Amino acid sequence: MKILRIDTQKRTSAFEELGAYAGLGGRALTSRMVRAEVPATCHALSGDNKVVIATGTLTGTIAANSGRVSVGAKSPLTGGIKEANAGGKFSQMMAKLGIMAIVLEGKPERDATPCVIKIDASGVGFADAADLAGKGTYEACALLNAKHGEKAGIMAIGPAGENLQMAASIQFTDPENRPARAAGRGGLGAVVGSKKVKAIVLDDSGCKAEPVADKEAFKKAAKRWAEILGSHPVTSQGLPGFGTSILVNVINEAGGLPTKNFRFGRFEHAAEISGEKMVEIINARGGKAKEGCHAGCMIQCSQKYVDEKGQYITSGFEYETVWAMGANSLIKDLDDIARLDRACDDLGLDTIDMGCAIAVAMDAGIIPWGDGKAALALLEKVRTGDPLGRIIGNGTGFTAQAFGVDRAPVVKNQSLPAYDPRAVKGIGVTYATTPMGADHTAGYAVTANILKVGGSVDPLSKAGQVELSKNLQIATAAVDALGLCLFVAFAVLDTADAVQCIADMVAAKIGQPFSVDDVVAIGVNTLKDEIAFNKDAGFTVQHDQLPGFFLKEPLAPHNTTFDLTAEEMQAAKVS
Ligand code: SF4
Repeated sequence: MKILRIDTQKRTSAFEELGAYAGLGGRALTSRMVRAEVPATCHALSGDNKVVIATGTLTGTIAANSGRVSVGAKSPLTGGIKEANAGGKFSQMMAKLGIMAIVLEGKPERDATPCVIKIDASGVGFADAADLAGKGTYEACALLNAKHGEKAGIMAIGPAGENLQMAASIQFTDPENRPARAAGRGGLGAVVGSKKVKAIVLDDSGCKAEPVADKEAFKKAAKRWAEILGSHPVTSQGLPGFGTSILVNVINEAGGLPTKNFRFGRFEHAAEISGEKMVEIINARGGKAKEGCHAGCMIQCSQKYVDEKGQYITSGFEYETVWAMGANSLIKDLDDIARLDRACDDLGLDTIDMGCAIAVAMDAGIIPWGDGKAALALLEKVRTGDPLGRIIGNGTGFTAQAFGVDRAPVVKNQSLPAYDPRAVKGIGVTYATTPMGADHTAGYAVTANILKVGGSVDPLSKAGQVELSKNLQIATAAVDALGLCLFVAFAVLDTADAVQCIADMVAAKIGQPFSVDDVVAIGVNTLKDEIAFNKDAGFTVQHDQLPGFFLKEPLAPHNTTFDLTAEEMQAAKVS
């Protein structure tokens, strides 16, 4: 496996050996490279920043759910280090091409023509992409697939990334060539846009994935891995049956579904936007209720959501999006929410930050609460570069500043996801302390707080939350490094030999001993790199806290506040 470095200014490329980065994959690799090679105080949109796109350690093998891609850089949104993670075809193609990481370096002139980078077995090519400039990712990817073949896997940015918007995502095509899989958080699409890269196209024809060192041992461990995922109720029934939106009713019942810009913990129309309702609609209209975002996904939490005529609207229609565009903005029409999801994927925007920014705009009186059509019209202003679009596309914190709204649900300028920290305190600790800015995936304490997976910790009490978050932050960093989908965590946390099984797969792949302790060490070392970067970037303990209204305003129905101080939460960070 090699590292592919691309000088975006000169449009040159060079393969190099892994060297000091050998043994690292996914988030462990992106964070180590960003820590080692990006000055922590640089401007995120300057030529000093780098975009590292890495495949996971287990990606390209037969291990179930191992096809995720990690993208790392200094975030223009948070000002700290960032890793955003996505599904799609891209990562497995990278592995087959023998590329552990693609690194976008340097910066062309601001008025330079954007380019498309094509990578295949014969090497790396650059082409002007003036014809794709300003196009949505759906049209751009369709044109690229028409040109390079249906087999190609694509990473692309939309108008938001091209316009250097701080909430810009990077979109990846799924097995049906839809750019519906997002490395959404932290504005990394803007960093790609600053390097004038519209898309990267991969074609792995004629390539074979690097062979695993011990085939028999790998097969045995991968078989056990599949049994583990196939026997846990969440990974074998809940997520495949209803997608991640199965959480709408669950979190609403728990009183933690943020509603009307985090004013309430329950949404009276939750049932209308629930996973159960989504599946009912999909089945009635002839969509597809269950599919994987990459080959080898056993859980299959994704879906194809269609309109009343059976025409495709969106896929990868996840709980976070349904919540952000739904309960948090008081929008109860699932079709409207689906179109908002589609618009975000097409424009290349993070759905969580956009949902929260829309709610802030509603708080400011820019559009009415609950008006899905007005929300869509507002989002579409990002496409035209309208000043209002420029505001929204820069995310929740910026939108709140622009409109003088003091109710801005952000940590390190990144918006909070779909669990109110007053009703799910463990996730509040993660929001506050992860180096990523408010991010549920960085340490998903909803497991033990609400779902009673991997133990039970009272969601309304302070007790046990810091330790829970810390352990989950370590586990998540390891999962992200290996290229595994985070949703495997439900089965891993409840199965005694699951981490051993993961270690066995890694050992068989690399042909060297690899223990459970080594899995933990990946997580710890990754977090150490990230925390060190953020410290050098100027972050202090004062940045590790939630906005003041969570500490002061009791949340119905439990009437609780978030009562952990920044100092108390420091123990959630590895040292
Ligand atoms: S479980 Fe969902 S997110 Fe994870 S790999 Fe499968 S489809 Fe993608």
